[in-house]
Amino acid sequence: MSLAERAKRERDLAVAAEVVERCRKCVIGSTRRSSVYGEGDPCAALMVVGEGPGETEDKLGRPFVGRAGELLDRMLLAIDLPREDVFICNTVKCRPTIDTGTRLANRAPTPDEMRNCRPYLDEQIDIIRPRVILALGAPAAKSFLGERFSITKQRGQWFEGPLGIPLLASFHPAYILRQTGGAMTEVKRMVWADLKQVRDRLAAPPPAPPADAAPEQHSLFD
Ligand code: URA
Repeated sequence: MSLAERAKRERDLAVAAEVVERCRKCVIGSTRRSSVYGEGDPCAALMVVGEGPGETEDKLGRPFVGRAGELLDRMLLAIDLPREDVFICNTVKCRPTIDTGTRLANRAPTPDEMRNCRPYLDEQIDIIRPRVILALGAPAAKSFLGERFSITKQRGQWFEGPLGIPLLASFHPAYILRQTGGAMTEVKRMVWADLKQVRDRLAAPPPAPPADAAPEQHSLFD
């Protein structure tokens, strides 16, 4: 990928992140501390999409930086992908919370919140054009594949995601962390099988561009 293309994607993502920062389509746009647009390599072959920012992400304005994020980093490293080589984001860019009376707790994003945020996710996918999308957890998978998607039955299968990009869903790292004993071992075994599929798909040669595709422009001045 040319340096010019990389720079253009960086610019496009920065502009899109500013729009997200100003967004108040949902109430959570006003209750959150920071918007969490997403981060990583603008030319990444893999895009990881989670559910929504939690408390630590909201504090730092970065995706997957709490305990689940630490596990995600280890999962990616297990398939030889340092976090910086991947693009990581969420279905919603603001932390969904519920007031328990004593504190603000995390909650799942509502369908309306996911719908409002969807154009931002679609734009990210369009800018980055990853070769593979990995959706983590049922809400992220359902946002791509519909309400009837079952994470327990259909994780680890390939689907056609936005722009025809191959998409696979797996368990969310926070779900893995909630397991104990043999259940945790079993969930980890399934996630490892899914990660190996992602690794193999990324290692396969990319599909040839259509015969009439315009050649990439190489100019000193673009
Ligand atoms: N869980 C998510 O789904 N996303 C984050 O960014 C952090 C935790």
